[in-house]
Amino acid sequence: MTTPPPEIEALVRGYTRGDVSDDAMERWLRAVYDRGISLDETFALTMAMATSGETIDWSGVRGPIVDKHSTGGVGDAVTLIAVPVAAACGVTVAKLSGRALGHTGGTIDKLECVPGLRTELSVAEFKAVVERAGCAVAAATADLAPADKKMYALRHRTGLIASIPLIAASVMSKKIAAGADAIVLDVKHGSGAFIPSVDEARALADAMREIGLRAGRVVETLLTSMDEPLADSVGDALELDEALSVMEGRGGSRALRDVALAVAAAMVKAAGAQQRDVRQALDDGRAFEKFRAMAAAQGGRLEAFDRSWPSGSVVRAAASGRIARIDARPIGEAVADAKRAARPDAVSRLGVRLHRRSGDLVREGEPLLTYWLGTGKTRLDDAVTIDPGRGAVA
Ligand code: URA
Repeated sequence: MTTPPPEIEALVRGYTRGDVSDDAMERWLRAVYDRGISLDETFALTMAMATSGETIDWSGVRGPIVDKHSTGGVGDAVTLIAVPVAAACGVTVAKLSGRALGHTGGTIDKLECVPGLRTELSVAEFKAVVERAGCAVAAATADLAPADKKMYALRHRTGLIASIPLIAASVMSKKIAAGADAIVLDVKHGSGAFIPSVDEARALADAMREIGLRAGRVVETLLTSMDEPLADSVGDALELDEALSVMEGRGGSRALRDVALAVAAAMVKAAGAQQRDVRQALDDGRAFEKFRAMAAAQGGRLEAFDRSWPSGSVVRAAASGRIARIDARPIGEAVADAKRAARPDAVSRLGVRLHRRSGDLVREGEPLLTYWLGTGKTRLDDAVTIDPGRGAVA
């Protein structure tokens, strides 16, 4: 299909103002979803959405300003670690994040587990935190890319999410409106991602990179696996707890640490920063100090975060053998379902903690995972596949 860029801009402007109906916009989005659009059209769509509301001007703040984005996953607590690691290397980080979407978690929900921490910041407050702490993570304001908010809600209602041009334009419109000079994109593939196929994830990464370059931004992309939960825990407070453990050097998932360091390294590269040793910034505690400074500047009292957990329900190995697979998707869905069913004040403490990882040997009856999912039915028994034939234990 072909829609000339000026028509795309008029359509987006009209829809944002309310002059174009939901039905008309849905027809166009469905045509894009079914038949795709060219890169020129995707760029026109991105810029129309990016300029549909407020844009953030960072002049006056020491730059370059770096933002990062993950296309979303299960146990994806990367931002909580990568942002302070990059800031500890001297990168100025201004990150706008979202809340949980579908079966995936949201960084804003995780950060808000720190008592008192505010993420709904005005642009002036966002800038002040960036200047004071060197990094900030805030929720996008209502005025930033309002066309994307309205079109995203329509796509959600009409099942038109999984389209490479629509996702690329949606993500990049917010990043461009947020004004960073450099953008790091962590594109997930696998069962727990929105785009399972690695080839399509690569096409999404390429489209977003090209849009960013055309908009005059430095762009770094990474493709990372989301077949298994990244952290050993899934759930808002559990993931915050684990990210803190990684920054304190007290454990946490190896995969989470590795992806966080890879993302932080891409942020440092994108910023052209002199200090490139992200591992050292994490291991010597400077990243944790940055996280504390950022949390405090956003009103958080980290010392008041409750890191103790009551005993939960346990899923045990049905057979002895080697763990072949821990599927991110059913775990993400179980946590998302439980959150929807829970009282609002109970949501953040729900979740799952893995005791074993793929490749581990287990004996029948040993605990595989513990969960805190309220009283609803859970679908976790099938999340872990044990191969009894491969190196089974006696
Ligand atoms: N995240 C976004 O911001 N937009 C999409 O379309 C999909 C994921």
